Amino acid sequence: RDFLRVRVMNVYDLLDEQLSDDRLKGLLAFDATLGSHLGPRSPTSLLGLYYRLAGEIGGFAGAQIQPKGGMGAVVAAIRSAAEQAGVSIRLASPVAKVVVEKGRAVGVVTQGGEALRAKAVVSAINPATTILNLAGPREVDTGFVRKVKNIRMKGDAAKLHLALDRPPQFAGVDAAGHKGRLVIAPSPDHVEGAFNPSKYGEFSPEPVMEITLPSLVDPSLAPSGACVLSAVVQYAPYALKQGWTAGKPQFLKAIMAQLEAYAPGIGATVRHAELLTPDDIEGRYRMPGGHWHHGELQADQMLMSRPVSGWSGYDTPLEGLFLAGAGSHPGGGISGAPGLNAARRIIAMRA
Ligand SMILES: Cc1cc2nc3c(=O)[nH]c(=O)nc-3n(C[C@H](O)[C@H](O)[C@H](O)COP(=O)(O)OP(=O)(O)OC[C@H]3O[C@@H](n4cnc5c(N)ncnc54)[C@H](O)[C@@H]3O)c2cc1C
Repeated sequence: RDFLRVRVMNVYDLLDEQLSDDRLKGLLAFDATLGSHLGPRSPTSLLGLYYRLAGEIGGFAGAQIQPKGGMGAVVAAIRSAAEQAGVSIRLASPVAKVVVEKGRAVGVVTQGGEALRAKAVVSAINPATTILNLAGPREVDTGFVRKVKNIRMKGDAAKLHLALDRPPQFAGVDAAGHKGRLVIAPSPDHVEGAFNPSKYGEFSPEPVMEITLPSLVDPSLAPSGACVLSAVVQYAPYALKQGWTAGKPQFLKAIMAQLEAYAPGIGATVRHAELLTPDDIEGRYRMPGGHWHHGELQADQMLMSRPVSGWSGYDTPLEGLFLAGAGSHPGGGISGAPGLNAARRIIAMRA
């Protein structure tokens, strides 16, 4: 009964009910809203925290790990396992079109013009791109197309990469702490204050962020004595009112000011800085709206409503076409869960 009560609550109110330490509340408010266009006081923002805690690593709920060798090592491992299972992979061969014959998806054509036929076409890219650009709205039921067009996917998270001459010293954090996850989100009010400008197309003047120093855990990632810093920073609205060409240097300045306050002297050690705004993420990673979940993870776009209501089973109204990426249930993050679920569903449908 209590679950029914809290599931529609905002995380801010629940934290106020249960906790008193503003720093702990700030951390949980940050976790609940990371990657979403939500502030802690936004209705249903608590669901984001549940989503995060739903994962488990080594028996620890909500735990996160950093793979040895970086994320590329995960991709290499998946690739090797797939190839051993007989899969052939074409790199740098974007699909230009899903081929439809007599109302059924029967294959794809790559941008290079190669045509491939298949009994099932499984798309692990963005659902809107798949339906609207690759299959084409004419091939799919109008109601479904309308729902797909309405999926909200404008990102608010930016990614910062810094190459530093030496590891930074975050005040009050010991050596072991520097190898973990460092979050700047001093209170739920601070997170809410960072969110507010994004509603009006402005970035946060005092952004909140999650920082890791990957080279402290895996020294192969930086030259000896140097350090790399990686941070996810909010809020950086996709449709920045002033445009990201003008806004990016200003946002980077705001982020560096925030970092300097927590790790004095860090600014002077920066060799190179790269800031990826949602606009950059969209272009570089083919993520429409620069949204890392390929669709907002909010109450109306989760569970049985992901990617759209009535179609959470990985199949689509176009026979033979399936969706299998983060835009499908359960959503984004490197979990593999949408792909695993989709594979099970496709196998079950064939049985
Ligand atoms: C900056 C950033 C930081 C993140 N940090 C974390 C993190 O720390 N932890 C975490 O768990 N998650 C993180 N995420 C989220 C996570 O990366 C995504 O949720 C996840 O990658 C989604 O997986 P996916 O396979 O569904 O889609 P994607 O990873 O987007 O993969 C889709 C692939 O399809 C390719 N593609 C697109 N169009 C075509 C086409 N027409 N033909 C062929 N190929 C195509 C794309 O190039 C891409 O390689 C982060 C995301 C971003 C953007």
